[in-house]
Amino acid sequence: MLNGLSVDVEEWFQVGAFERTIDRADWPALESRVEANTGVVLDLFAAAGVRATFFTLGWVAERTPRLIRRIVAEGHEIASHGVDHRRVHTMTAAEFRADLARARAALEDAGGAAVTGYRAPSFSIDARTPWAHAVLAEEGYAYSSSVAPVRHDHYGWRDSPRYAWRPLPDAPLVELPVTVAEVRGRRVAVGGGFFRLLPAALTDFAVRQVARAGRPAVFYFHPWEVDHGQPRVRGAPLRSRLRHYPRQRAMAGKLAGLIRRHEWGRVDAVVAGEAARA
Ligand SMILES: [Zn+2]
Repeated sequence: MLNGLSVDVEEWFQVGAFERTIDRADWPALESRVEANTGVVLDLFAAAGVRATFFTLGWVAERTPRLIRRIVAEGHEIASHGVDHRRVHTMTAAEFRADLARARAALEDAGGAAVTGYRAPSFSIDARTPWAHAVLAEEGYAYSSSVAPVRHDHYGWRDSPRYAWRPLPDAPLVELPVTVAEVRGRRVAVGGGFFRLLPAALTDFAVRQVARAGRPAVFYFHPWEVDHGQPRVRGAPLRSRLRHYPRQRAMAGKLAGLIRRHEWGRVDAVVAGEAARA
């Protein structure tokens, strides 16, 4: 079973947990670490011989086009994570369309490869954004991987399908949710910070659980999660700091193990297999 391996490419200061602590206006003055961090991830993938999808902010592509070129040159898929991590449910449909266009232009200009996939910042396509999938379809996207089918304090759309589905009756657009485990009838998040903070065995359990149902897993993490040298954000809420910083030093080794234990590839390849049954 080919599972989807994905990386949400953003700076250490662009995460949802710090959005009330770090002003967007201050972003340009902060130390850029995304090229180095993503380089660590690319080296790890090259050593393992796997390809993946990099859902990348237009903001990063506009400032670091060399990184986008490297990702494409190494055989990975470049997809969109929007311009600057604004959540979809904070935008109007028109603002969302403009955000998609600016991000795609930056990513395609830098990478020279067509962008056909999208992931909403903080999985912010949910019941509040009934128009979002239609805008993605109209803009020509083949797939979205923007839904976390789980309840979480920052995100989630608990009642949405757990596997690939077609949100629109008259468009081929596929929504490929990130994988959650099901434990005693409850859905449990396993990617990103949950993978870093919890035992890897929970993610292994989820990958095997969806495989038994004949479905691929979709896993994600962030380049800043492997960067234990990143600046500490002062004044951030304790809960945010307790989520952001722990276990970054162990993350690369933990990822290498997860990659070894299962079969992984680009998300567009997984979508191609799922489109037939969605
Ligand atoms: Zn993100």
